[in-house]
Amino acid sequence: MARIDGLPPLRAVIAEHDLVARRQLGQNFLLDMNLTAKIARLAGDLSACDVLEVGPGPGGLTRGLLAEGARHVLAVEKDARCLPALRQIAAACPGRLEVVIGDALDLDVAARLTPPIRVIANLPYNVGTELLIRWLNPPRWPPFWDSLTLMFQKEVAERIVAGPGSKAYGRLALVSQWRADPKIVLTLPPEAFTPAPKVHSAVVHFTRRDAPRYPADQRVLERITAMAFNQRRKMLRSSLKGLGADIEDRIRAAGLAPTARAEEIPLEGFCALAREVARA
Ligand code: SAM
Repeated sequence: MARIDGLPPLRAVIAEHDLVARRQLGQNFLLDMNLTAKIARLAGDLSACDVLEVGPGPGGLTRGLLAEGARHVLAVEKDARCLPALRQIAAACPGRLEVVIGDALDLDVAARLTPPIRVIANLPYNVGTELLIRWLNPPRWPPFWDSLTLMFQKEVAERIVAGPGSKAYGRLALVSQWRADPKIVLTLPPEAFTPAPKVHSAVVHFTRRDAPRYPADQRVLERITAMAFNQRRKMLRSSLKGLGADIEDRIRAAGLAPTARAEEIPLEGFCALAREVARA
């Protein structure tokens, strides 16, 4: 890890700027620089990449990204109290860190970055899944990013990588695995954070696929999976009844049993069904 000269330890930064963690902003900070450098390395070689970081907070991960050689980091933080601490980091790395104060859900920041782009973040728990779904479901594919390396609650990470037949399997797994390859690359106990959350966390690394794993229309696939998993214990022929009188024929034409339940159907099966429904 390259040193960033002149920056005080993160605990001193938090004390100096009185950054008492706010639960409503999902603030659980990483203060161990070895850990933040490790997360940065899990994202791959950053030296030829721009990085989008959501929620830098006092800047522990931001420092890790810069120390690991990120070409340029754009950090979007909702809490303006963090700005002086982030400005200090920007001053120590001239030209490599841009800080934007605002809500990541409202800002379209991709246009400020130069490809290839990696998104790396210890996400606020309250908006993490919503941001992920937006990144996985952009209006056009390929998206602005090449990879996503994101911290989630472990339970959410398990839903992202789940396969059919498990309780964790559902829409999040399907949307995550259709056009990307997600992998859990690190699991962390609550004590890794300050303050410690109640649950374990995990980092998921997503590599985007150039094309979907199986062809399907995005909107049809979304509609079918929403209907199927809203009633995950029901048979497909009844959970998908609203799609038309001939839905049983469509399900059979897709190679599936009308009596099967959503949680048993692999991604390939949902994509086949989406093609059949779109054809109809
Ligand atoms: N990256 C820091 C770290 O690892 O120590 C802080 C991570 S903390 C889990 C989440 C951060 O996201 C907080 O700094 C919080 O203020 C910020 N945040 C919460 N909601 C946000 C939003 N909608 N847009 C941008 N930042 C947000």
